Order: sequence, then C-alpha cells, then structure tokens
Amino acid sequence: MTESFSELSLAPSLAKAVAKMGYETMTPIQAQAIPVVLQGRDVMGAAQTGTGKTAAFSLPLLQRLLRHENASASPARHPVRALVLLPTRELASQVADQITQYAEFTNLRCTVVFGGMDIKPQIAELRKGVEVLVATPGRLLDHIEGKSAVLNQVEYVVLDEADRMLDIGFLPDLQRILSHLPKKRTTLLFSATFSTDIKRLANSYLQDPVTIEVARSNATAATVEQRFYSASGEDKRLALLALIKQHDVKQAFVFVNSKLGCARLARNLERDGLRTAAMHGDKSQDERLKALAAFKAGEVDLLVCTDVAARGLDIKDVPVVFNIDLPYNAEDYVHRIGRTGRAGASGLAISLVSSSDGRFLGDIEKLIKIKAEVEAIEMPVASGRAPRDDRRPREDRGQQDRPRREERIDKRDDDRMANRAESRDPKARYQPVRQTKSDPLFDKPYEPSLPPETTPAWEAAPSAKPRGISASIKSRRKVAALFKSTV
Ligand code: AMP
Repeated sequence: MTESFSELSLAPSLAKAVAKMGYETMTPIQAQAIPVVLQGRDVMGAAQTGTGKTAAFSLPLLQRLLRHENASASPARHPVRALVLLPTRELASQVADQITQYAEFTNLRCTVVFGGMDIKPQIAELRKGVEVLVATPGRLLDHIEGKSAVLNQVEYVVLDEADRMLDIGFLPDLQRILSHLPKKRTTLLFSATFSTDIKRLANSYLQDPVTIEVARSNATAATVEQRFYSASGEDKRLALLALIKQHDVKQAFVFVNSKLGCARLARNLERDGLRTAAMHGDKSQDERLKALAAFKAGEVDLLVCTDVAARGLDIKDVPVVFNIDLPYNAEDYVHRIGRTGRAGASGLAISLVSSSDGRFLGDIEKLIKIKAEVEAIEMPVASGRAPRDDRRPREDRGQQDRPRREERIDKRDDDRMANRAESRDPKARYQPVRQTKSDPLFDKPYEPSLPPETTPAWEAAPSAKPRGISASIKSRRKVAALFKSTV
C-alpha cells in the first residue's frame, strides 16, 4: 500500500498544498481511502476525527473536481459539485478550513454554511459560486428552500460523522437533502461506528461501497489511566477541585451531560478562581471558537463542555479528561477519553460516579472490556455546597443559560443530545481497572497545549484575585486555602 504522498499521482496544485501543510506520510485512513475515492467508488469509512479523514476524502475529491476548474468570475461556472455534511458548527468550520487549505493552489472554491449565524452573508457567498459546500443539515435546508443552494450538479456527497448526525436526529433532514441530489454521484460516509442505523443509511444511499476501517471504534488507549471516584450532586464540584489538586492537573477537559449543568459548573468554577470556559450548544459560534482558542493558547485551564459541542474539536492532546457525569452513551466515554493519553503521553481520565450511575458504568465496562473500581474521595469540606444559582447578580440571571434569539431559531443544528432524559439503575460490582489494549489511532506525538512554565490558577496564592471574573461576582470560596488545610 502507498504510504507517502509523493507516491500518489496527486495534481501538482494539490501536492503543493499537502507539502505546505507539512504532511509526508499518509495516515492509515488516507492510505486506504484516497486511491479508492480517486477511482470514483463509494466509501463507507469507520474513522474518527483525528485520524486524518478530512484529507482522506477531500484530496481525491478535489483531484476529481479539477477537470471543472476554471478562473471565470461567473457564478454559473462554479456550481456546487461536492457537498460535505457534518453535525456541528465546529466540525463544519474545521473541515471547511482544511479543504480551503488543500484547494489553496487551485481555482476550486470552498465555503461553509451552518446555523447560529446570520444567513445573509452565507447567501451572498453562495451566489458567487462555490464548488465545495460544507454544511450542517438544518442550515443547508434553509438554503435549499431559499434557492441559495442549488444542488443539481453535485457529483460528490460526504456524510461525515454520520453516526452523530443520526444521534442528533438529523435523519429526516439528511433524507430531504439527499432527495435534492442527482442519483448519479459518489457518496462517502464516515462514521465512528457502524451501528445498525448507519448500515441502514448506507444501504439506502451508497452503491456497492468499499468498506474501510482503520481503528476499532471502541478502543481506548493503553496509555490512558482510568480512575473512577464516587461523588454525587453538588459535591461533584468539590470532588473535582480536590482531584485537580491531588493529581496536579494543569489543564483539562471537563465533560458534563447537560447544557445547563455545563454553564452552571463553569460559572461556579470561575467563581472558585479557576480559568474556565464553557462550551455547549447554547454558546454562539463566536464564543465557542474563542473558548477553544483560549484553551489552546493555555489561557484557559478548564474547558467545561457537553459531548456534541466538543465532538471532533481539533485539539491534539489534553493531559486530563474529567467526566463530571458519566455519558448516557458508552461510546461517548471512548470519544471523551480519546482526547488524552496519545502515544508518549500518559493520559488520565477521571470519572465521577454517583449511586445512580450503575447502568452507565456497566455499559462502559462492557463496551471497553474493563472492570472499574470506584474509589472514595476525601472531600475538602464535609458539607460543602456549590454557590446557589440564584445568588448570582441580577443582570446575570436568566442570561447565561438561555440561548440568544438567533441561536434559538436554529435548534436543528445544535446539540439535542446534551439534554436527553436520565434513566438509571443502581448497580454495585466494581473491581480494579485493567488496560491491556493498544490502538494505533492514538500513536501520535504528544503536543502539550500549555507551556510547562505556566502556573495554573489553582496553584496561585489563595489571596490572588481570580482572573477573568466579572467585577460584580465575588469569589465565595478560597479553594486553594481549603486544599492547604485538608488535602
Ligand atoms: P482530521 O481527522 O481530518 O480532523 O485530521 C486531524 C488532524 O491531522 C488535522 O489537524 C490535520 O491537519 C492533520 N493531518 C491530516 N493528515 C495528516 C498527515 N498525513 N500527516 C500529518 N497530519 C495530518
């Protein structure tokens, strides 16, 4: 199998872009998918974000579109030829950025449309003509209905993160979009898992696809140490603070199941003096991108997020992942902890388990074939309670947890998953974690996103003024001081 990009017969304009990106060796999904897509075959690919799948489908797709390349300014000469569908704004924006870079030295145009943003600039952009359109389903339907997106010349359609699109409930939207496309086309479907629903989708819309699988979807990295601690309700925040101190955590992702819980926890941690950002479906695109940039720059220590908001974020490695809530879906546990422990780095995944989490823990144990031992944690304060939500300043009330008007309009393109109802069964049979698997997916160099000399907020002197907190919000807890006396 071809391993090096130089062995591929890529057009010089694309080879130049690949060289500019600094890629030399193809990732496994690229080595397998690029030759197949170049032949024009349909593909059903099992690959997660981080495997290089964007280049795997977009490079051959661009290569095949080069025959339509032209320098004309006329929009009519630049109809949509390829459609790439993704479940979230972040993913759509990241994928469009990558495709734009791969197409930099061609005359092929790429643009992205997603919800939560003013539709008018998107309409103007589409009217100029674009060969590759990256979109989330809800907003694309708006453009189709408004006739700003005309899809009768589409030759390629990519359903990326297809499992997640189905999870969010996009199937009817996908069916409607696909009904607008020419029957004769190439369809590429990428999904982290091949569930029954995904297979059904593939059977309906793919023709004689080549199946490509590069990583077991349920594998966790052997380098990730998984710890489970018992904590419930509002004690979870104090447990988190204690564990941050205990494990000397410098920077972490903190996963929460609901948007409301995410916003509240982030706010309370900020009051505790930690540099925190929240990432959930009710945050505007701009806010999410800013939070992500701040985390990457090391200006934020804790990124508190829901699954859908965090899915596929292009963050190379995070030293520690906390699960404040166990995810409802065991596969999300794999996705969450897959952000840590890549080759060369010893990652740590810490999950807080409440007494009603038995079923979810059982699902995780079954999926990744571990036995989890739930440890007790010594809490820094015996009856500690998080500050009550209604004690926040008046101007803050009712604002943070509510989507802005323009965001509420576009609920189709957002994380419906994050607020699924809870239903849990207690279960208590825990034994020590044993990890024996290794997974090539995680064989990537460790790239810390925080400079080693940076001191995290929680290590600052107790008297230090919390950073990034509004002047009207008083920090109620001097957490560092609490740790000093009790941990
Ligand atoms: P993706 O899975 O497509 O989101 O890609 C994950 C990351 O890997 C992106 O930051 C890409 O720029 C990067 N990448 C993709 N292909 C390669 C490659 N062959 N060599 C090195 N990095 C790559």
